[in-house]
Amino acid sequence: MTKLFHTLLFVFCGLSLSAQTVLDFQRTLRVDYQFTGDAGSREIALSELCSFEGWAGRRVNMDRVPLKGNGDITLRDARTGQVLYCQSFSTLFQEWVTTDETRHVRRAFENCFLLPMPTDSARITVRLFGMDQQVEAEYTHTVDPHDILIRRLDNLPVQPHRYLHRSGEPADKIDVAIVAEGYTAAQADDFYEAAQATVDAILAHEPFGRLADRFNFVAVAAPSHDSDVSIPLEGKWRHTALGSHFSTFYSDRYLTTLRMRDLHNLLAGIPYEHIIILANTGTYGGGGIYNAYTLTTTHHAKFRPVVVHEFGHSFAGLGDEYAYNDSYGDFYFSHIEPWEQNLTTLHNFADKWQDMLPAGTPVPTSPEGRGADQIGVYEGAGYMPKGVYRPSPDCRMRTNECEAFCPVCQRAIERLVRFYTD
Ligand SMILES: [Zn+2]
Repeated sequence: MTKLFHTLLFVFCGLSLSAQTVLDFQRTLRVDYQFTGDAGSREIALSELCSFEGWAGRRVNMDRVPLKGNGDITLRDARTGQVLYCQSFSTLFQEWVTTDETRHVRRAFENCFLLPMPTDSARITVRLFGMDQQVEAEYTHTVDPHDILIRRLDNLPVQPHRYLHRSGEPADKIDVAIVAEGYTAAQADDFYEAAQATVDAILAHEPFGRLADRFNFVAVAAPSHDSDVSIPLEGKWRHTALGSHFSTFYSDRYLTTLRMRDLHNLLAGIPYEHIIILANTGTYGGGGIYNAYTLTTTHHAKFRPVVVHEFGHSFAGLGDEYAYNDSYGDFYFSHIEPWEQNLTTLHNFADKWQDMLPAGTPVPTSPEGRGADQIGVYEGAGYMPKGVYRPSPDCRMRTNECEAFCPVCQRAIERLVRFYTD
């Protein structure tokens, strides 16, 4: 009797604790929001719910985020409150709120997030963190998976695409989509060539090379009407698949797309989790936003190191290990430890690479007389010449000339890959 009771209890607990009882890995729920604000306000509003077949995301470590990020989204069982899935991210909106433009105008930014479809009523909470890592905006809403207004994207035309590296089923692998921007249909072969160069460059870097069998890379040749991208400074506006343009936030070399819904609609029908956008232009520019996208330009001499660097941001949430000579602003505070794994303010260094420091390494460490990949605590990182420290004299996250990720970045990337796939 007792044994039976324990067995029943075990089964009951097993069921109630198992995320699979309320998640349907057969479909993806895409949640589209507008993040709006100005100097004094932040708001989150729901735009639309969509769904499509399959779930390419992770199936392990569902109830915790791999990194804190600048925001997170959490899916909970509406009845029990149990966390079914969560993911962290950064956004262009949060970069914009640091600009002077916020004093004159309120703007809205599109954001799309992919969640495994719940089988029953679920609550979704989105949070945005400020530079002090405190919650700055939060919004919770309930989703009924049977809601007739969840737009089904199954019949959207699937864009032409080609697998460049396929190591297994999307359910088991990390799926990276490489998307064409500013390539006409006639330029598809140029795009596939650049996409192949991207895959080769990423896999030539450790730990991606030795973990290659955990990734799929698919190139999506979404055609643009015009070749090249928009350059507002020269008055050139082009009609391209993702409407990307330079001079984002009036910064001349900052090339981004604000059209997240167009981007995700183009990917409907193709399994994807991480996104790299290749822009058909020669001007140096681009960026990488953690769990949003990498966007970089293909006809620049530094294309290969830059695309890997930006993927370090968008895939792995790594910080920039370079600093500007003048103090560019306060991006990090001495009393707050950055969440980026390759940066420290020494506020909580034990959580970072302290365990990797060779015995007797002075903290901080002078780069004089040290090898290029000798681990230390070198001042100058995260755009700030003082108060932020990096692990290595040089790294892929510091210069285009360096040929590898430093050992600390390598460990951070490997931990993330294992978090998603082990
Ligand atoms: Zn590094």
